[in-house]
Amino acid sequence: MPNALTITEAHKKLKAKKISSEELTRSCIKQIEAVDDKLNAVVYRNFEKALEEAKKVDKEGTFDHPLKGIPYLAKDVYCEKGIPTTGCSNVLRNKDYVPPFDSTTTKRLKEAGAISIGKTNTDEFTMGASTESSCYGVSTCPWDTSRVAGGSSGGSAAAVAADECIFALGTDTGGSIRQPAGFCGCVGLRSTYGRTSRYGVMSMASSLDTIGSLAKSVEDIALLLSAIAGKDPLDATTGDRAVPDYLAGLTGDIKGMTVGIPKEYFPDELDSEVHESIKNAVKTLKKLGVKTKEISLPHTKYAVPTYYVVVPSEISSNMARYDGIRYGHTAEAGDLIEYYFNARSEGFGDEVKRRIMIGTYALSAGYYDAYYRQAQKVRTLIKQDFEKAFEEVDVIVTPVSPTPAFKIGAHTDDPVAMYLEDVFSVSQALAGIPSLSVPCGFSKNKLPIALQIMGPQWGEERVLNVGYSFQKAMWPEGVPKPEIA
Ligand code: GLN
Repeated sequence: MPNALTITEAHKKLKAKKISSEELTRSCIKQIEAVDDKLNAVVYRNFEKALEEAKKVDKEGTFDHPLKGIPYLAKDVYCEKGIPTTGCSNVLRNKDYVPPFDSTTTKRLKEAGAISIGKTNTDEFTMGASTESSCYGVSTCPWDTSRVAGGSSGGSAAAVAADECIFALGTDTGGSIRQPAGFCGCVGLRSTYGRTSRYGVMSMASSLDTIGSLAKSVEDIALLLSAIAGKDPLDATTGDRAVPDYLAGLTGDIKGMTVGIPKEYFPDELDSEVHESIKNAVKTLKKLGVKTKEISLPHTKYAVPTYYVVVPSEISSNMARYDGIRYGHTAEAGDLIEYYFNARSEGFGDEVKRRIMIGTYALSAGYYDAYYRQAQKVRTLIKQDFEKAFEEVDVIVTPVSPTPAFKIGAHTDDPVAMYLEDVFSVSQALAGIPSLSVPCGFSKNKLPIALQIMGPQWGEERVLNVGYSFQKAMWPEGVPKPEIA
């Protein structure tokens, strides 16, 4: 089926006129119609417009860009002109918010000729690790639909793994691309903070938010990064650095590299199957000619508490814009204060409210020094751990998550247990470094397990080349596909 193709495979066929963009788009639509009632990955369907676009592209007939005519889905926090975008929050859903502009990323994809076929599910405003805080309900894991797809980009991960699209866009503030990619068995990259533009993507925590893609191969991720990365005058935090041809950088030669293995990521409580899979992955890397070195990232144990002070603080500020006046859900009220109170109480879900309260507390006079300032200091120490480590090693490998996909409802009554799911994915975000999630094995009950490959800031080329070499060696026939039941 064409919808199962990768970008590079589909591009070859489009170019050789063995398939049309319309056929490709229709096959994705057909798959969404066939399996999405089980997955709940797609929350908005843009099928009519997508087919129109596809026909237009076919008529032009020049597949000069590798993304031309390729259908994709975007996480429901990317603003796309004329397409309802809700952040999977009742705040915007109740008012059918339709952005009058495009995010830089979807604009760049549009210019390359890619075709947006709809929006994917996420935790409300990307806060979560399971998509259970979405106002549309949970997205399920295509490998076992009694389990979560992960989060917050769970819809994007499930959609890619289930071949509902050729690739999807996600965001990663503390793991939201890498963890769901890992749970569903696809590839996802969090790039260096500032490598890609956040313009037009709903903010969660602005000093950590990054945007990126989920795809079926490392090659596709590399190709997409070249298309979306780079300086954007609309986002002052983007770096003014040349964007290399990341695809051409995939030489497959990683001989002589040193791979760091941080002991803090392999605690006794680590799931034994996850541990085994990572060990096997390291063996595969060794066969490719790398050396390994045990290293220490001593401040790792402070990463989750630090993240859950810094992030809610920024959230409490970013969520202030949803006041029921400029955007979103409106309420009945006697006066202005009551109006804000009612609009925000009714519009936001529990997780968003919890984080607004924690953040407001951590930033308040009297507590700022004890919590926020302290957390910023520890953030610097975490960043320095990585800087020191990368003086000795080229990349660092760890698990992405402590367990494979968990059951729906497993942590819904225990927010701290949910936060601990992020134990391996928030340090990289606090440090602003690139990190890739690649499938590296399966548990006995057939749930995907993923390897995380990190590099120094702006080290995407190296990270992708290691991921590419690994994926080829590990899955010569391609990563297995789920049977959706
Ligand atoms: N699970 C993390 C959190 O809840 C990460 C979310 C994200 O990266 N958007 O904050």
